Amino acid sequence: MTFKELNLVEPIQRALDLTGYINPTPIQAQAIPHVLEGRDLLGCAQTGTGKTAAFSIPLIQQIYTSKEPSRGIQALILSPTRELAIQIDNDIATYGKFTGLKHTVIFGGVSQHGQVNALKRGVDILVATPGRLLDLIGQGFIKLGNIKHFILDEADQMLDMGFVHDVKRVIALIPRKRQTLFFSATMPKEITQLADSLLTDPVKVEVTPPASTVDRINQSLYYVDKKDKTKLLLHLLKEKQMGSTLVFTATKHGADKVVKELIKSDIEAAAIHGNKSQNNRQKSLQAFKDGKLQVLVATDIAARGIDIDELEYVFNYELPNVPETYVHRIGRTGRAGHGGVAIAMCDPDERRELVNITKVIKKDIPVEKEHPFSLPESSLKTPIPKQTAHSLRQSKGRSFKKSVRR
Ligand code: AMP
Repeated sequence: MTFKELNLVEPIQRALDLTGYINPTPIQAQAIPHVLEGRDLLGCAQTGTGKTAAFSIPLIQQIYTSKEPSRGIQALILSPTRELAIQIDNDIATYGKFTGLKHTVIFGGVSQHGQVNALKRGVDILVATPGRLLDLIGQGFIKLGNIKHFILDEADQMLDMGFVHDVKRVIALIPRKRQTLFFSATMPKEITQLADSLLTDPVKVEVTPPASTVDRINQSLYYVDKKDKTKLLLHLLKEKQMGSTLVFTATKHGADKVVKELIKSDIEAAAIHGNKSQNNRQKSLQAFKDGKLQVLVATDIAARGIDIDELEYVFNYELPNVPETYVHRIGRTGRAGHGGVAIAMCDPDERRELVNITKVIKKDIPVEKEHPFSLPESSLKTPIPKQTAHSLRQSKGRSFKKSVRR
């Protein structure tokens, strides 16, 4: 199928021609016709599947072709993180370039001044994170009474980040008569319940990136002592002459420590995490995208929404407690049809996490033994550490089988 077969209006088709996209991704092919008809949608999909265009394109078209005169914000898109919100707004700018529709993005961590000015100029489509949205509603700068389309993106992440109450407060302010599009990478019980309460007779679309994306990515596993991880990272960066590399750490402090060591070894690196100001995060991300930074070290929350087409290497410096997070992380590479390399570092204490990850991806990650920090076999034969209370709590309610079908 090509985009030409989707009955898109000329200004959108023209914008798509500029992007060079020819074929809609599976989620786009399945979702766009139904969303154009005004149906509600339940999308089980993660970033990397083309889901942003799957909702943005039909949303723009509906507003563009609606005969009603604009009376304020007509579409609201909620995103859990600032990075993802900015990414969505950029995509709307791309697809809506020739439609004349007005859009803006609001998020916390920066001055509200520019955002308020943009709102005052009038907005058709608003992309927002929940906190700043409620803040500006409270100050009287935003009215949601004219919303006709509501999009909740990455609902499971909203839940994980503790935003569900904020989301519910926002929903209570939107007219009941509206189109709702609901996206989540995983469908734990709380998310299914939230979706049921929001959607009316939705079209259900489920795409399967993990298996397909994961298959395209060249994964390898290095057993290494915790204390040698940075040395191994430095060794691999040099030996394999790695270009743009994204490194995931478990903590903000850990991210800062890795960056310090990399800089000491003359590698251009920066960290992005929740303790960095929004401007700083954006600056680092832009420098990374522009190729001025070789390595970006990130925690999961800051990395949501990072969309770099040509990112080649992703490191799991520490293995995540939630196995699905491994799939999210490595899915930063191998995007939009490109290949990629994902390297996992596992110290003997992380073998429980490794077992859980291999259950989710349904295969073993090939072990790379030939490296200077390789561990003796004996250290891997000790009993596998028990599941921690934290990891148990984190994975509760998530079915392995389901997560594989994301
Ligand atoms: P998303 O899942 O929305 O984060 O999109 C993932 C990436 O795929 C983004 O870099 C998009 O620019 C790209 N993309 C989206 N739709 C298409 C398409 N139909 N063909 C090629 N690339 C696409």
